[in-house]
Amino acid sequence: MTRAVCTGFLLVVCAACLILGLTYDYRFILASAIVLAITAVIQFPFREEEGWECSCGYDLSYMPKQSTKCPECGKSASLEWSASPGELPRKTSKRLHMTVLWLILSLILFLLFAALVFVS
Ligand SMILES: [Zn+2]
Repeated sequence: MTRAVCTGFLLVVCAACLILGLTYDYRFILASAIVLAITAVIQFPFREEEGWECSCGYDLSYMPKQSTKCPECGKSASLEWSASPGELPRKTSKRLHMTVLWLILSLILFLLFAALVFVS
């Protein structure tokens, strides 16, 4: 949960820096690239276990079958077993794809900044 909040906050900061970078001072583009890279880095690690772990860290395989709430923190939780071992749960692989996208975007922003420095 904390990670989701951090990710959202960092993405807002990144967007703000990008807007400032495009309108005011291009050095903010570099800040935006760095913030986006940090956002991508805090997504690690990606674990297969996330499919049966609550955001509070409770192992949901101990959860009663009929229950839809985490016995530890009371948040609604859903178990997700991957089809085959060694495969990431859907939620985790979605996050992995976003992370790759953010790293690529960060690199593009960095190159844009480098190009702007080179031109000016
Ligand atoms: Zn929980």
